[in-house]
Amino acid sequence: MELNLGMGGSAPTAYDVIIIGGGPAGASAAIYTARADLRTLVIDKGLTAGALGVTGEISNYPGVPGPVSGAELVEIMRGQAESFGATFLTDKVIGVDLGGEPKRVQAGTQSYTARAVILATGAMGRTQAVAGEEQFLGRGVSYCATCDGAFFRNRPVAVVGNNDEAVEEALFLTKFTDQVHLIVPTTQLNARPLLLAELERSPAIRMRLGTRLREVMGNGRVQGVRIHARSGAEEMLPVDGAFIYLQGAKPITDYVMGQLETTAEGCLVVDREMQTSLPGVFAVGDLLCTHVKQAVIAAADGVIAAMAADKYLRGRKQLRADWK
Ligand SMILES: Cc1cc2nc3c(=O)[nH]c(=O)nc-3n(C[C@H](O)[C@H](O)[C@H](O)COP(=O)(O)OP(=O)(O)OC[C@H]3O[C@@H](n4cnc5c(N)ncnc54)[C@H](O)[C@@H]3O)c2cc1C
Repeated sequence: MELNLGMGGSAPTAYDVIIIGGGPAGASAAIYTARADLRTLVIDKGLTAGALGVTGEISNYPGVPGPVSGAELVEIMRGQAESFGATFLTDKVIGVDLGGEPKRVQAGTQSYTARAVILATGAMGRTQAVAGEEQFLGRGVSYCATCDGAFFRNRPVAVVGNNDEAVEEALFLTKFTDQVHLIVPTTQLNARPLLLAELERSPAIRMRLGTRLREVMGNGRVQGVRIHARSGAEEMLPVDGAFIYLQGAKPITDYVMGQLETTAEGCLVVDREMQTSLPGVFAVGDLLCTHVKQAVIAAADGVIAAMAADKYLRGRKQLRADWK
């Protein structure tokens, strides 16, 4: 069934459903929406930027006895969704307009539209900023190289993080500058082998393993970062930009920018079909303040939201899982 998208239908960026986040919640939702013949776009900022993506080994996911790494399990789920026609895009969602028709999703410099949106961005958000980070946000501190990289042509920059997203952003910045410092808090970098190989081939990126970002410093604009190596050595690295991709344990909802109802604790409110306070907008997985954070629970949430999105888009009276 061809759905009427209400905007000419043939726009290349128009989908029936956009899923933000491609972990177990988002990928499972995509399996069901794509299999229901809904044009499905999944936007994910990086395989190792999510909770399952960073998990070394998983042996309790039903039907997959393992041993399998979390990233391998996510790839299996994504492959299954792709086999039903879902499209995956690697990018970071930085904003949404959920109230309109169609709904808009901004990823990097590109905007995408759909009639339904499923939020599945997990809970790896940071609870605390480093000193100077908020002060210099937009004045040298950035979370998006795709958006801001061009401002740092031929300038020294620091990229801070330990995942696919950080490496991808560091590689992206080499389009503009050959002075990229990759600051990795751990002694090993957790990124896909393909990205690690690309990193090795890039002379523009200098990597510092086992080094923490302590402070972003400057005077009106960023002038440097204070970093602390495991050896105890502290150093002020002169840079004009600091791109920060660190992770924590807070639900990632920054891109929603207050458009959805939350509880007093700041958790998104959803009904039993995972629908948020806005019709056609669903939220699933660790992103919700669920007390049991497990991959199979996140996947189950994704399935419910996918069926609810199908019901919403097709005007069904009930959830249905017997499409094909
Ligand atoms: C160390 C560790 C070990 C674990 N071990 C187990 C285990 O053994 N068994 C088990 O069942 N569970 C385990 N879990 C829990 C399980 O990983 C999570 O419950 C599950 O991954 C949640 O799925 P999710 O899809 O909601 O979120 P995530 O897996 O976190 O996926 C969220 C996705 O959203 C993407 N994203 C975030 N922000 C954006 C944005 N702005 N734009 C685009 N994409 C974005 C991320 O790249 C990520 O891929 C473990 C978790 C951790 C941290």
